[in-house]
Amino acid sequence: MNEREKQRERCKDWHRRNKDRVSTYSRRKRDEWKAYWKTHNPYLEGGEKRCSRCGHSLPRTDFYKANYKKDGLDCRCKDCAYLKNEAGALRRMLSKAKTRAKRRGLEFSLRLEDIKVPKTCPVLGIPLSYGWGRGCTRRKNFNSPSLDRRNNTRGYTKDNVRVISLRANHLKGDASVEELKAVLAYMCSE
Ligand SMILES: [Zn+2]
Repeated sequence: MNEREKQRERCKDWHRRNKDRVSTYSRRKRDEWKAYWKTHNPYLEGGEKRCSRCGHSLPRTDFYKANYKKDGLDCRCKDCAYLKNEAGALRRMLSKAKTRAKRRGLEFSLRLEDIKVPKTCPVLGIPLSYGWGRGCTRRKNFNSPSLDRRNNTRGYTKDNVRVISLRANHLKGDASVEELKAVLAYMCSE
């Protein structure tokens, strides 16, 4: 047992011995909220809520439920909760791609271990990093890795997907090589 654990044990012991001296206010409140949210749906009460991490005001359904909180919701939005670590961010990326594939009727056979995230974007050479919040629409996380389908008509399969930066993916869009060449020629001619 190291020093830190010893200290923790001492603390626990003190709390056990002084149970009645410790304020039970917050504990009582927490129990009240828990009882309240047992019969109520936090998604149906109140308006928008501000995410404590990315700072955006979002609809309540963008937060996970947390019955021990006063308003019944987690303080971080779902995206921020997922982006807590890299593995979570990858899982989020994969599940979102699955949703898109389903919506568009595309094939989906990608698995978590198929996704290899390079250090830098293979297109633009910028370093890839995970940002808080939601991709590009609410915050400019252009450095975020994103899944790019080499062939836009095909779905999310191991050999059709690679990871590039969100910026490169946006620039590319669903354009064909000919279209991009035409755009480039137009830009150069000016
Ligand atoms: Zn957030």
